[in-house]
Amino acid sequence: MDHGSRTHRKYAASAMARNMRCTASPGACASAPRLERASAQEGTRAHEVLEHCLRTGYDARQGFAQVHGAVEEANAEAVQVALDHVREIVGQYGAGDVVVWLEAAFDVVPDVCGGTSDIIIYVKSLRRLYVIDYKNGWEIVEVADDGWLNEQALTYGLGAVKALSPTYPIDEVVLTIIQPHPWHVDGPVRSYKASVSEVLAFETRVMRMIHEAETRPSYRPGKSTCRWCAAKPFCPAVEQAVAASFGVTKLTDITAEVLGPASPQDVGRLAALLALEPLVKDFFRSITEVATEIHKHGQPIPGKKLVQSQTRREYYGDEKDIAEGVTAIAPNIRAEELFEQKLKPITTVEKMIAQRVRALSPNRKEQSALVADANRAFAYLLDKKGSGKLVLADWDDNRPEVKVADMFGDVKLPVIEGPKA
Ligand code: SF4
Repeated sequence: MDHGSRTHRKYAASAMARNMRCTASPGACASAPRLERASAQEGTRAHEVLEHCLRTGYDARQGFAQVHGAVEEANAEAVQVALDHVREIVGQYGAGDVVVWLEAAFDVVPDVCGGTSDIIIYVKSLRRLYVIDYKNGWEIVEVADDGWLNEQALTYGLGAVKALSPTYPIDEVVLTIIQPHPWHVDGPVRSYKASVSEVLAFETRVMRMIHEAETRPSYRPGKSTCRWCAAKPFCPAVEQAVAASFGVTKLTDITAEVLGPASPQDVGRLAALLALEPLVKDFFRSITEVATEIHKHGQPIPGKKLVQSQTRREYYGDEKDIAEGVTAIAPNIRAEELFEQKLKPITTVEKMIAQRVRALSPNRKEQSALVADANRAFAYLLDKKGSGKLVLADWDDNRPEVKVADMFGDVKLPVIEGPKA
């Protein structure tokens, strides 16, 4: 299947979490320009390899070579995690006991709401449906968290249960996110076993959301809600949230008089501005992206022009020739002095170890155990140091708080004087 050209429903599974929170988003996104990010293209390539390998039986490195003509090491390693998981499930049951659907589109509302699920596996003897979603990105995606269930996975599950259950009786649905790139305390494969009634109950929420979006759409901006919204650069609610924090209704109304004098001791004002930082940064980044595209496509943005991005100097030609050139310029420099030998980055070495220990056994289960052992052993060769710098973080950040008073003991911190009245 051509993953880049999947058809998108107005209420797509992939946008379900956002649409559930901001019912103005589906309508606003429908008319927003689509920007194809490099990370999204990388994800598409990984999904194509995953599907190819599941259909053909090849491993991920071979899959990348066959589908894209080159192996992307880190992505091959990540796709292999998904392949191993799926093959392990299928291998547990007899061939006659499982049915597998790859890249199958399931609708909650025909042609309006639904999506294309990466992998669906039905196990007849257990009346169990596995709904597996592969994530190639780095931003952590949870499958379940404190009573909340991943809405994208639920949409696939709901669509699949509705379409399949007349023929395939289902008692439980295992929702699984496979996300190998970022580290997660529960590992790269995270699952939640839902009852079929739990999945079917989600339909009421979906229908309520669609009704609101179609009849009285409501903007509800939020840090994670707006993160990937295509409508963000043009969103009146985000602009209004930014402007309101300055006490105005339009960003262009902000003046020094409106803001009034600031004091270093006005920590409330600093906290209010800091709370806005992610939204504002994201807002302006999306505006820059969209404005650049519009300008590139022939509609100039007033006061702006396209220029080459900052140039970086780099060596030109073969490294050995360059070293000879340098020693010719300064004969008292030895060629060896120009090269440094250092360890490759940790993530690269980690991938190398996984790849090489995997090659030690033809058995997939044994390979996974070998990789887990190797990761544990590698951890002893690593040190985890803070940068020594203190940074402000939100209260829900899971790093422990550093008490400044504990650090400075009896040393008195200077008091900042505010402006005299
Ligand atoms: S940017 Fe945020 S508030 Fe605006 S439409 Fe998108 S999700 Fe809704």
